[in-house]
Amino acid sequence: MLDDVARVVVSERQIEARVAAMAEEIASFYADSKEGVTIVTILTGSLVFLADLIRRLPIRMRVALVTVSSYAGKTMQSRGAVLESAILPDLCNRDVLIVDDILDTGGTLRLVRDRLRAESPRSIRTAVMLRKRDKAPADLPVEFVGFDIEDEFVVGYGLDYDGLYRNLPYIGVLKPELYTTESIT
Ligand code: 5GP
Ligand code: MG
Repeated sequence: MLDDVARVVVSERQIEARVAAMAEEIASFYADSKEGVTIVTILTGSLVFLADLIRRLPIRMRVALVTVSSYAGKTMQSRGAVLESAILPDLCNRDVLIVDDILDTGGTLRLVRDRLRAESPRSIRTAVMLRKRDKAPADLPVEFVGFDIEDEFVVGYGLDYDGLYRNLPYIGVLKPELYTTESIT
């Protein structure tokens, strides 16, 4: 599996240092929140980031899960985000932090944010591990960002290609011959 990686984009050490710094930013942002924060995480890609992040957050917090699908199988282009399921606690008047793996076109975040707004939370903020520098839409502000990266398809640290590579401890690009380009139907 390690042979499939052409290039490391963000190393394990870089991830560790940045997640620790993000956790500090987030913890101080919510330091005065009595109820603490409810983290709504977008499965499946955010699992690894979430697990690392929350263990570094010394604040009151709860976790809720939503599943959004946009990339099916060997596709590398979003087919439009669809909310598959949402297991949500009462979010009324809560401070909500959406945690996602990567901000690309913003379709996923927009969908989840609109769904959460309907629950009347006190605030909604967003944290993403990665953001594609030239693609993230200007009208979709994200308060906490791990790394800005080039517009290329990355795997590892939770991110998959055809369900694989989520367990890589770093973020990288696969060898080009492994990506089969599929046309969108
Ligand atoms: P968006 O809806 O912003 O276009 O895409 C966000 C979702 O698409 C992410 O949560 C992630 O699941 C997936 N995605 C976007 N870019 C990449 C990428 O480079 N690699 C992988 N593995 N997934 C991506
Ligand atoms: Mg995702």
